[in-house]
Amino acid sequence: LTQVAGATSAGAVLQLVRSGVTTRSDLARRTGMARSTVSQRVDALIRLGLVVETGDGPSTGGRPPTHLAFNPDGGVVVAADFGITHCRLAVANRLGELLAVHAGELDIGVGPAAAVDWAMEQVAELMERIDRPLSSIDAVGVGLPGPVEFAAGRVVNPPIMPGWDGVGVPPLFAAHLPDAAVLVDNDVNMMALGEYWHRWRSTVDDMLFVKIGTGIGCGIIARGSILHGAQGAAGDLGHVQIPDALDALCTCGNRGCVEAVAGGGAVSAALRAHGRDVHDARDVVALAIAGDAEALNALRTSGRLLGEVLAGAVNFFNPSVIVLGGDLADGHEQLIAGVREFVYRRSTALATRNLQIVHNRLGADAGVVGCAASALGAVLSAEAVDSRLARAEGTRGATA
Ligand SMILES: [Zn+2]
Repeated sequence: LTQVAGATSAGAVLQLVRSGVTTRSDLARRTGMARSTVSQRVDALIRLGLVVETGDGPSTGGRPPTHLAFNPDGGVVVAADFGITHCRLAVANRLGELLAVHAGELDIGVGPAAAVDWAMEQVAELMERIDRPLSSIDAVGVGLPGPVEFAAGRVVNPPIMPGWDGVGVPPLFAAHLPDAAVLVDNDVNMMALGEYWHRWRSTVDDMLFVKIGTGIGCGIIARGSILHGAQGAAGDLGHVQIPDALDALCTCGNRGCVEAVAGGGAVSAALRAHGRDVHDARDVVALAIAGDAEALNALRTSGRLLGEVLAGAVNFFNPSVIVLGGDLADGHEQLIAGVREFVYRRSTALATRNLQIVHNRLGADAGVVGCAASALGAVLSAEAVDSRLARAEGTRGATA
């Protein structure tokens, strides 16, 4: 057992319990703290409902050791993943497991107040379905289809969200849930976090998640957390320029963006020019699955173009994993094959030595799982637990 330097607060002790340290004596060994101090920390965590005693340890003849366990059922978190035309909502327990999910149609153009009101109506129904009061919601994670200034939870200059520019989202949810923390990020970052939480967090520190839908976006996981960048604009991969594509005009107003030649919008337009009846990325994939040579070729080319940009990202960032998601990447191998072809050829040998390039696992749930994970960070992190404890102790002191 290695000692954990500085692991003295109750919040830090909770992280050890979550990682599988289950007795007070092991906690004392790991932290170097006195048994009495460990017991104080554990008691505080039990009072907060974050830890429970299970008492089922192996008996050694004398009094059996009381085992400690993280309590996954104390409170819940809400996940709200907004798209352009739809919204997916979920309630998750403290392990991030989805207890109830609702997917509905919602035009993001109704504006922030109406969108949040609609979402909260659905949340109330979900909570009723799992028989829990709204007061048991500890935090809300929100994904939005536009740029978000993460620290303030504010939408900044979104191209396709009329009425949202400059709007801070946390107060809108706080009007319904005054005691819940509200975390807001863009939808691709939330999907990245969802895939990371679900499959990679125990084995990988650095990951790229690339969503290839109508457009192309990228979420960056660095040392286990989303990398937002100075203005929250990190990972804007879709508007990296490809020298060979300079005649293509992008929706951003520039020419030669990889999105303008490899995104689902561009690929379906190219296929329409060849007489195919396709309207979006899903139609393209369906046509490829049906064996249409032009569609197969278009997916492969899209993958290669994306691979050209990702090869540079791999040299620059050296991720362990690249996860591909989004409508154009799902359901067929051609696109990922094109990506692999270019990345392994163009990136340095060292950067690609252990690099995996894989499909996503969560599909439509990636966003809500990421929103739940983001919300759980605000409930279960050492800092969050310590400040909650300080408030609770302050209240106890005031009323004593
Ligand atoms: Zn662009």
